[in-house]
Amino acid sequence: APLLRLEDVSFGYPDGTQVLSDVSFEVPAGSRVALVGPSGAGKSTILALIEGFYPVSGGVLRWAGTDVREMPRAALRARLGYVEQEAPVLAGTVRDNLLLTRPDATDPELWAVLADVGLTDVVRRSPRGLDVLVGDEGVLLSGGERQRLAIARALLARPELLLLDEPTASLDARNEGLLRDTLAAASADRALLVVAHRLSTVLDSDQIVVLDQGRVVARGTHGELVDSS
Ligand code: ADP
Ligand code: ADP
Repeated sequence: APLLRLEDVSFGYPDGTQVLSDVSFEVPAGSRVALVGPSGAGKSTILALIEGFYPVSGGVLRWAGTDVREMPRAALRARLGYVEQEAPVLAGTVRDNLLLTRPDATDPELWAVLADVGLTDVVRRSPRGLDVLVGDEGVLLSGGERQRLAIARALLARPELLLLDEPTASLDARNEGLLRDTLAAASADRALLVVAHRLSTVLDSDQIVVLDQGRVVARGTHGELVDSS
């Protein structure tokens, strides 16, 4: 069974807003899947369902074949890393931010994960090293760098699946390129499900799922989607 599978998932918010209808796709272990589509299509909602934030209203969400309703939430969350849209980092040091996920992580592990997201040089430039401030007081990291720090933090927990919500929403072209490299490094030994506004960020995904008004309207590799349009 694939790592994650949505089977005819439908969902409405408690206030009655119907958001998803018969959404089906899967994320095989180690693969990269992108969710694209206009604002309001339901992309963030799908991530919230995968996180177990709400139960599905219809259909089934399976992890390695098991219906999530039969799994304890803690077991689910241990397999997941989630990087929010705004990728908030603490007004502390790089070390503080990284240790949030794994207080027991060693310095070599912290440096390794910073290398994965291309932040080694930035952090080395500071005489304070891992103890450089990143937050409101420090402002030593740019927006794109903070976002990559949030990804590094998620990677440190070694999730099987990393969920990224709109990682390029506020990035310029240079930072988007750096983020693409980060995603390639992050996907070396885990699955990635990336919500993207810009198709350019996710061209090299194994599968692109196009959503519109809560429905899957197209699905395939970038090449397949271009051929069929
Ligand atoms: P994006 O379109 O960039 O994903 P958001 O995820 O912030 O933006 O919001 C998407 C839409 O969902 C927006 O129209 C927003 O107003 C709406 N929305 C977000 N949270 C809520 C909520 N708690 N109740 C109702 N609507 C919400
Ligand atoms: P996307 O991420 O594709 O922009 P969302 O999943 O954020 O889309 O939103 C899909 C729809 O769900 C929108 O119509 C939005 O207004 C609505 N929505 C989002 N969050 C909530 C919420 N917490 N309560 C009610 N409606 C919501």
